[in-house]
Amino acid sequence: MTQPLISLRHLSKFFPVDTDLFGRTTSLLKAVDDLSLDIFPGETFGLVGESGCGKTTVGKMLVNLHAPTAGEIWYGGRDLVKLPGKERRAYCRDIQLIFQDPYSSLDPRMTVGDIIAEPIRVNNLLPRREIDDRVAYLLNCVGLSANFRNRYAHQFSGGQRQRVGIARALAMEPKLIVCDEPVSALDVSIQAQVLNLLSELSDEFGLTYLFIAHGLSVVRHVSDRVGVMYLGRLVEVAPKRELYTNPLHPYTKALLSAIPVTNPRYRKERILLEGDVSSPIDPPPGCRFAGRCYAKSGCLGCACDTRTPELVEVLPRHFVACYLVADERDEARSTGPG
Ligand code: SF4
Repeated sequence: MTQPLISLRHLSKFFPVDTDLFGRTTSLLKAVDDLSLDIFPGETFGLVGESGCGKTTVGKMLVNLHAPTAGEIWYGGRDLVKLPGKERRAYCRDIQLIFQDPYSSLDPRMTVGDIIAEPIRVNNLLPRREIDDRVAYLLNCVGLSANFRNRYAHQFSGGQRQRVGIARALAMEPKLIVCDEPVSALDVSIQAQVLNLLSELSDEFGLTYLFIAHGLSVVRHVSDRVGVMYLGRLVEVAPKRELYTNPLHPYTKALLSAIPVTNPRYRKERILLEGDVSSPIDPPPGCRFAGRCYAKSGCLGCACDTRTPELVEVLPRHFVACYLVADERDEARSTGPG
């Protein structure tokens, strides 16, 4: 069986939001709460959820921009969370980030050649005389002319800037790239080009991606497996085809129903979520989705309001955190075929 490239175990990130007179924390924002996930070599794992669900925080913990509050990140046989700073930084070279906003993620005072060369120089990845050739090679890999190396970021279009950001990530020869909504700031016509480029680079460099997006329509084109997050927790994980054809969690169904269809003869039932989004600050016990769940009343012996549902495998490689789905699976098993 293939070993995961990286494994997240019970990963949590809490941010203090309030303190008492003595400076003690009195309330916490639970951005990521007890998240476990394996990402396998060569796959693209799409992580989806609405704004504020904690998906970007997961990515930032992977690239060491946030220290986890609890949990483990296993990579290369080591728990990165427990490694001392210098060793952790060495491992983190293998995990790079492509930022959401190509406008603000590039230093306007540096040429793109310097931006791409900087991580190579700082980490002594190549002798000085070879760096220029490497920069030219990386620019070509992302579909830009090597002659562009002396230009500044403001001289490029949005799509070209994102290509520079991709070249900068590739400069570190990473194994895993966290793509944090890399196309959401781009025109629709450019989005497809950047997605195709990422796909080609994955084949060429043997890359693994964690692809973060807020809609299921974008990850559909790039992902092998998809995970859906809601308020800091994973609620469904499945291979792409399985998730899009057989969504089981009520929240995933609602997200899928929101994807527009292009065929005017095909009418899709839209699931409109009502109720308030629960606050991630000191969330109450129970399912985080309970306040908006349209399926909750059908829950047998409902524990939705008192216990947090765990992610369980209800079909091969299809994991869901929902009591209703788990009850239906148990009922189907006890009834048996025929
Ligand atoms: Fe809805 Fe209950 Fe399932 Fe949560 S556990 S999604 S509230 S049915």
